[in-house]
Amino acid sequence: MNNNEMNEAMKQLRERIQAIESEQILNVLQRTTIDAVGGGVLFFTGISITQVILYGLRISVAMPVLPTLLGSIGVASSSVLVGVFCLRQHPMELEPLQLTAAATSGLLLFRLLGGRFRSLAPSDFRHPGAFAYAKRSLPATIEYADVNARAVIQSFGRLYGCHTCGTKTSKYHADHMPPVLVAKAENTRLLAKIFGHLTQNGRLNLQDFFIHVHCRYYPQCEACSNTQGALVKKNAKQLKLHVTQIRSYHFTGFWMVLFGASGLGSVFSSNNEAPPTVVQQVVLQATEVVQKPHLQLLREREELLKQELRSNTLSKESIQYIKDELSQIQRRKAEIKRLGAYK
Ligand SMILES: [Zn+2]
Repeated sequence: MNNNEMNEAMKQLRERIQAIESEQILNVLQRTTIDAVGGGVLFFTGISITQVILYGLRISVAMPVLPTLLGSIGVASSSVLVGVFCLRQHPMELEPLQLTAAATSGLLLFRLLGGRFRSLAPSDFRHPGAFAYAKRSLPATIEYADVNARAVIQSFGRLYGCHTCGTKTSKYHADHMPPVLVAKAENTRLLAKIFGHLTQNGRLNLQDFFIHVHCRYYPQCEACSNTQGALVKKNAKQLKLHVTQIRSYHFTGFWMVLFGASGLGSVFSSNNEAPPTVVQQVVLQATEVVQKPHLQLLREREELLKQELRSNTLSKESIQYIKDELSQIQRRKAEIKRLGAYK
């Protein structure tokens, strides 16, 4: 074999190796895409079924313990489904350890993506709903909201959705929670209790003065508001499903696969420098991917609040509320930076 033939043979060999390498990369990409989309769909289906089951059992987000417990079971089992799907070609690897890892990483990711287990339960019209968060509401008096409060609630509604059904496309009412009727009845009861003490003991128990019903305004869409009115008067329980209201935590299954929780486990573990456990991989990559946009969101929100403060049209109460939220944002930013997740 002369030099020319040798060079030609080497060239062909290199081309062949390149072709095999790109084919392998393509294969991994193709498998990852199928796993991620399939895992995403399975997880979404799993948590939607959880919600329908809770609806059937008449368990609402407003009940104690049960919705949190059943919601977390729903997330864990949906994550196991994702794990099983990703290991479908290696059924021998389907061991309790793998499935526990899938459940743990799913639970962790769901929380990192802003999910709240009890929010998988349907809303009860008479109580703060699945999308009600104290930090996305305003402190309320016993009366209806004033113009300023209504304006803030309107922007909360557009940003975070109706507290009952989650819709982000509506005009929003400042929903008084607990409802004015309920709060007034409760205050009357407390007042009666205070006077009861006075007449029985001849003196007032000071503690009684510090008991009062805490009310807040939450954004509520027109449709939910209309339904709620009649139900509150009758104190009738009616639940609202919100399966079609998609939030970032609904994509937990998709991210699980991309973070190497199950399908890509073998690819990551072949790399010696990769962290040894699935959970460590997930934490490492989740902080990198999730917290960067989180910090960005905090900055945007901070800028928006500062603009609102400069507008000079706010009531004292709203100004205080905005200042409180600003200091919370600053604390959260410091926390993220301290964890070193963002460089
Ligand atoms: Zn609604």
